[in-house]
Amino acid sequence: MNTLLKVENLKKYFPVRKGFLRRGDDVIRAVDGIQFELRQGETLGFVGESGCGKSTTGRLILRLIDPTEGRIWFRDRDITGLSRKAMRPLRQKMQIIFQDPYSSLNPRMTVKDIIGEGLKRNAKMNTKEREERVFEIMEKVGLRPEHSTRYPHEFSGGQRQRISIARVIVLNPELVVADEPLSALDVSIQAQVINLMEKLKEDFRLSYLFISHDLSVVEHISDRIVVMYLGKIVELAPRDLLYDDPKHPYTIALLSAVPLPQVKKKKERIILKGDIPSPINPPQGCRFHTRCNRSMEACSHLEPKWKEVEKDHFTACHLF
Ligand code: SF4
Repeated sequence: MNTLLKVENLKKYFPVRKGFLRRGDDVIRAVDGIQFELRQGETLGFVGESGCGKSTTGRLILRLIDPTEGRIWFRDRDITGLSRKAMRPLRQKMQIIFQDPYSSLNPRMTVKDIIGEGLKRNAKMNTKEREERVFEIMEKVGLRPEHSTRYPHEFSGGQRQRISIARVIVLNPELVVADEPLSALDVSIQAQVINLMEKLKEDFRLSYLFISHDLSVVEHISDRIVVMYLGKIVELAPRDLLYDDPKHPYTIALLSAVPLPQVKKKKERIILKGDIPSPINPPQGCRFHTRCNRSMEACSHLEPKWKEVEKDHFTACHLF
C-alpha cells in the first residue's frame, strides 16, 4: 500500500498562560515527538486516555494548528510549512468529522445547504449539479430527500452525525480524520455509524485516521492501531497483532479493562496506579514509568527507543 500521510518527530507545545494574556515559560507538551505513516486505503486507529495528544495529532496533520517541530508529508509533499493560501487546495482532500454533531452543524442552515456549502467554495459546479451531488450523497449516508429542507434540531444524534459525514464526503476527500465521532451517540446507534463509515470508505476509497478513547470501537474499524500516552506513541501494530499480543505494558493494561473475547493475552484486570502525570512536566525516562507495573531502574531516566519488535509491530519499551 502506498503511503498517503507521513509524520516525523511531530511536536506541539502549547504555552501555559499565567493570567489574562500573559504567557509563562511553561509549555504543555501535548504531542512530543511522534512518527507514523498512514497508508492509502487504511484505517489507522488512535487510542489513549483523555489528554494523551490524539486529538491534537489529528488537528496537526490537517494543519488546523501549526506544529512546534517536525514534518508532515501528504502524498510525498511536505506540507509542514505551507501557508493558509497554499493549503487551500489541499483542504478539500483532508477533512475532519468532529465528535459533537450538535455543535458542529449550523442550526440556521438546512441540511441541503450544510452539505452543499463546501461545494460552493471548492468545486466548479452550477446550482443544479451541486444539488444533484448533495442528493446523491444524502442517499449514500442514509438520509431521505425530504430531509433536505429540514434543520439540524429536527434530527436525532445519529442522523446529525450522518449529516456531518455527508458534509465531508461530498467534497470527495482522500483522508478523513474522525475525532471521537461516536462518543456523543447512544451505543445502539454507534454500530450503525461505524458500518456507514466502513461502507463509505470502500465506496469513496477513503483513508481514515480514527481517534477514540474506546478500544472496542477502534477494534471494529481499524486496520492498524496507534496507542498514545502523554504525548508519545508507545505502540503501533496491525489490529490483530495488537489485540492478540500487545507488547507495551500500557497497552496491556488498557486491553485488560476491555471486555473483548478476542483479547487472548488478557489474564487479569490491571488497574493503572495513580493519575496521568502533567504534560507540563512529564516524567523523565519512560513517561509511563510512574504507573507501570514492570518498571525497572533504567525506566526512570532512560527514554526507551522506538523499535520494530516483529514485522510491522513497533513499541517503545525497555523490555524489548
Ligand atoms: Fe514500563 Fe519501563 Fe517499559 Fe516504560 S520502559 S513501559 S516503565 S517497562
